[in-house]
Amino acid sequence: MNVILIGPPGAGKGTQAQKLVASRGMVQLSTGDMLRAAKTSGTELGNRVAEVMDKGELVTDEIVIGLIEEQLEQGSAGGFIFDGFPRTLAQADALGDLLARHGTGLHAVIELVVDDAALVDRIVKRAEDAQAAGHPVRRDDTPEVFEDRLRAYYKQTAPLLGYYYAKEQLSQVDGMASVDAVERQIVAILDA
Ligand code: AMP
Repeated sequence: MNVILIGPPGAGKGTQAQKLVASRGMVQLSTGDMLRAAKTSGTELGNRVAEVMDKGELVTDEIVIGLIEEQLEQGSAGGFIFDGFPRTLAQADALGDLLARHGTGLHAVIELVVDDAALVDRIVKRAEDAQAAGHPVRRDDTPEVFEDRLRAYYKQTAPLLGYYYAKEQLSQVDGMASVDAVERQIVAILDA
């Protein structure tokens, strides 16, 4: 089973992806995590994307499609959860092609519907929690960069909602509910 979690930054995609990893043996593919790892390890790719990420803009389709392609080669018995990918129509088309090439497809696209006004608070809280726990704080988790990330979402990623709706693959969950309640809604869709 391959599933896309889609929603604006701070909607809870990463949190829910981790729940599915734990409960269903799925593999989480977060392009944001992969890009941050590349940045931290100072690879050529990391250096190339650092500035774009810090501005809250999207890195090129070619880069993220390449990262996903590599991971799909590894396979996953429980299937993949795509978290933060695809983010553009070109990425969505590429994902469809890659999955077809592996003899599989998408089983669900789940939108975490959230209230934008609440997102900035969530992002600020995520940065504070990370700092309190001694974890690295994301450089793009500031109210200023967040505005740009949200704009990129509406401009480049939100069109995917129509794309998957037209393919009858889109489901929605209330992303403002508690973490456990959101998880229950997602599980109900996957088990339907
Ligand atoms: P995220 O952790 O998903 O919020 O991603 C953090 C940053 O990584 C984004 O603001 C983009 O700069 C970059 N990024 C992550 N995933 C993608 C993607 N699928 N396409 C383009 N850029 C991405």
